[in-house]
Amino acid sequence: MLQFRRIALSIAGSLALASPAFAGKLAIVIDDFGYRPQTENQVLAMPATISVAVLPNAPHAREMATKAHNAGHEVLIHLPMAPLSKQPLEKDTLRPEMSQEEVARIIQDAVTKVPFAVGLNNHMGSAMTSSLPGMEKVMQALSRYNLYFLDSMTIGNSQAMRAASGTGVKVIKRKVFLDDTQNEADIRVQFNRAIQLARRNGSAIAIGHPHPSTVRVLQQMLYNLPPDITLVRPSSLLNEPQIDTSTPNTAPPKAVPPTPPRNPFRGVSLCKPKQKLQPVYATHFFTVLSESISQSTLLQYYQQQWQGWNKKA
Ligand SMILES: [Zn+2]
Repeated sequence: MLQFRRIALSIAGSLALASPAFAGKLAIVIDDFGYRPQTENQVLAMPATISVAVLPNAPHAREMATKAHNAGHEVLIHLPMAPLSKQPLEKDTLRPEMSQEEVARIIQDAVTKVPFAVGLNNHMGSAMTSSLPGMEKVMQALSRYNLYFLDSMTIGNSQAMRAASGTGVKVIKRKVFLDDTQNEADIRVQFNRAIQLARRNGSAIAIGHPHPSTVRVLQQMLYNLPPDITLVRPSSLLNEPQIDTSTPNTAPPKAVPPTPPRNPFRGVSLCKPKQKLQPVYATHFFTVLSESISQSTLLQYYQQQWQGWNKKA
């Protein structure tokens, strides 16, 4: 009898352990931490599986990273990277033409300003992440730290995964942006998309921002998750299968003269501006980008599907 009970308990135990493997794993990261402590504190009051990404040069960077860590949240460095479009730029925004030493200095500085970080993701960065030479410098610098790279996927043809190969740096990718608009109904739709993708693919990473509307939606939806969805930290997804959908973009980066920037990529999400505009010198990146995109219309279509830009996906 005792033996039977032991066996029954052991079966029950292994079932309990096994069940999460069948669930869709959902990781949520809230970016742009360090500027709005009041809203950010509301994020930190949510389940500890919600992770946060801190801008290293934000006024409350160290304070919020420390608070997040103490409350059990996973902390990432939210590293500013140059966008293609005209955006206000944070101090020390990584640009493809920077030297290896400059990139390494900026990453080292970020590591000291965002204590407890275990990963790093890009703030904006469509110009930087689409440059293979640029991202190779980032991965080279990152390989000195035990930091994973969460690709925010602000552009379809990101070179992050390609650049990381052989460096030992683990790369994972964002699937859904929760709050391209700050309309609660839209955010709920995006949250449900993330759930569906987690279910379909086994896991999904969603990125949001510390907007009051995002916080309200999370406060409602996190506590009413479907039973087959498990909230996880991004670091628990580092060994999930990853597919690199990029095409090589090896054009050497170089400084280009200033021209009026433009942004042909409607629907691509970028973190919201906080300051007045400064020009971004973007001509070269458009050339590189249009070349890479024109390589294959079909490929581009699949990239967009994969990134979930097509709302029907
Ligand atoms: Zn951001």
